[in-house]
Amino acid sequence: MSVFDHPEFDDHESVHFFADAATGLRAIVAVHSTTLGPGAGGCRRWEYSASEDALTDVFRLSRGMSYKNAVAGLPFGGGKAVILASPDAPKSPDLFRAYGRAIDGLGGRYVTAEDVGIAVEDMRAVREVTPYVTGVSDTGHGGDPSPFTALGVYLGLEAAVRERLAVESVKGLTVAVQGVGHVGFNLCRLLHDAGAKLVIADVNQAYIDAAVEAFDPVVVPPEDIIATDCDVLAPCALGNVLNADTIPHIQASVIAGAANNQLGVDDDGDALRERNILYAPDYVINAGGIVAVAREYLGEANHDAIRDEIDGIATRLTTLFRNSASRGVSTNRLADELARSLIRGNGNNDTRLSA
Ligand code: NAD
Repeated sequence: MSVFDHPEFDDHESVHFFADAATGLRAIVAVHSTTLGPGAGGCRRWEYSASEDALTDVFRLSRGMSYKNAVAGLPFGGGKAVILASPDAPKSPDLFRAYGRAIDGLGGRYVTAEDVGIAVEDMRAVREVTPYVTGVSDTGHGGDPSPFTALGVYLGLEAAVRERLAVESVKGLTVAVQGVGHVGFNLCRLLHDAGAKLVIADVNQAYIDAAVEAFDPVVVPPEDIIATDCDVLAPCALGNVLNADTIPHIQASVIAGAANNQLGVDDDGDALRERNILYAPDYVINAGGIVAVAREYLGEANHDAIRDEIDGIATRLTTLFRNSASRGVSTNRLADELARSLIRGNGNNDTRLSA
């Protein structure tokens, strides 16, 4: 299949393939839109069963970044990178420097950062060879975006339970967290501190052990977490977990998690609405990390200002939930409508939702 005919191509501005024999680097960078600014989004390191799956992932993630950055009100477009690698393959600074040289060659059309499988020290190796990288600061106002993502998800989750369950806090609610990696673990901490009961699953036993020691949650097998008995489901692993196979079995009345591309297809958002399950659109609720690293990149990393912007995620979601109820349109479709209109230059990221 040609790149242009790919079902997820969606008018990407550019797609770049990189290979470096010396380090074994194989990477794809997709830049969906630079209308609002340079394409900004993380780099994922993952083992794909076929390179076409990597292309599907990078296209969907890159478009998601265009929408996420627009709705968050950031002066960035959307882009994303994937490094094709086995999770067990050793990570070397040389490989990330090779990746960095590739990003540098794009001349600033794409700004990279961490995503799944990438750590701050990896991005520091990238920073040695290019300025077009963020998520590298160690000041506490940037660097690892995960705590900021978790905070935004936590505040958005609170907004969702206020709306759907008419409760003021998560105290006493059962929250099922799928994936207790960087974001999931930080989210568990916030939920645990606020008195929520936790059910968790992960495919990595070391992460389970750390979460058990810190939060004493109920642990269920990975295949059971989506359908587990809970008030809130927080997908914090990978995408495509809400689909025609899983949605009929979901017991939660709220879905609020960090994972990108949680819905298999847009219709899955309609199926959730028909089941009266309130879905917080992934790229709206998980924007806390990009807000922090975008401000770091722009040299505007001020803790109070970042916190105010992350608070805005909850406000934006509340407006979205209410508009969804009054218009009878699923939350994911309303969020997409808003994002596309912002990219076209018709509106601002809060008032358009209440129009
Ligand atoms: P991570 O790799 O640190 O954590 C993901 C966790 O999910 C890992 O512990 C992994 O073992 C687990 N996992 C994988 N498959 C699983 C399965 N089938 N069942 C249960 N657990 C499974 O990644 P992260 O940075 O925490 O990101 C999590 C998700 O949030 C990703 O989809 C990412 O794209 C998205 N996201 C992350 C950020 C961020 O700031 N890190 C920002 C926005 C969105």
